[in-house]
Amino acid sequence: MTTTAKSKQPSEAFQATLKDLKLMREGGVLYSHTPRRKEQTRIKLQKHKELVELGKKEGLSAKFISHELTKLESNCLLCNKRFIESERYHAFLCPECDDKARRQEYKETQEEKKKEELPIERYCDAILDLRPSYDFSYEEALKLWTEGQKEKEDRTNAAIQQMIERVRHRVKPEGMTNKEWQREKQGNKVRAKEQGVRTEVQRDRDDKFKDENSPNWIMRDTLDKITCICEVDELRAGECCKTCNILRKVHEYMLDKFKNVAEGRSTII
Ligand SMILES: [Zn+2]
Ligand SMILES: [Zn+2]
Repeated sequence: MTTTAKSKQPSEAFQATLKDLKLMREGGVLYSHTPRRKEQTRIKLQKHKELVELGKKEGLSAKFISHELTKLESNCLLCNKRFIESERYHAFLCPECDDKARRQEYKETQEEKKKEELPIERYCDAILDLRPSYDFSYEEALKLWTEGQKEKEDRTNAAIQQMIERVRHRVKPEGMTNKEWQREKQGNKVRAKEQGVRTEVQRDRDDKFKDENSPNWIMRDTLDKITCICEVDELRAGECCKTCNILRKVHEYMLDKFKNVAEGRSTII
């Protein structure tokens, strides 16, 4: 298709690229930060560049291009169904197509996760009798995510409530005797303890205790302090520094141990 100077109408190629770009999804809540997502971002940037170049060639202004990109659609880009205003939670897809796209993307991400799972992850799932995360259905993952959000919200609310209570209990209510006031404060403390409310100080103390006593954290801490003087050229030639040479053996040994336990061939635990 040729464009004349008179009609600055975008070409079909431009329209097609524009549609492709609008259909490329942003990171969803269930599957961000995966290698696939990174690759999609790369493709998206590439497509965006293409669109701008196409537009330039056709004499379209940058302002027009960016306007076209962010412009809401009146019809679903996939099924062409008209939007009802209340349904417009996704700018370019109708709810049905949006749901279908989400499920498809979830499925692909789960398959990718499964493919990229490391042996150690498989061993841990087996040892702890956990279901691998790639095994969760879309509904289950969504439910877990919603529950996680709710928990987070509850924790924030409890913290705010705690703060309010703390301020409130610094001031003796009018008409209350000192003795009553003391008893009231004591009662509140006991109640909080009974309800399992952890104060900030307690939380910090617990975190510190975990840091110092969990073998996992002790190992991380130790690893962090092991000096490494590997040179890139050395590594390319398959060599490494002396401490890393030891670590290589430790790593092999560790994987071996985990594998044996996971496959029921060890009495270590
Ligand atoms: Zn649709
Ligand atoms: Zn090293």
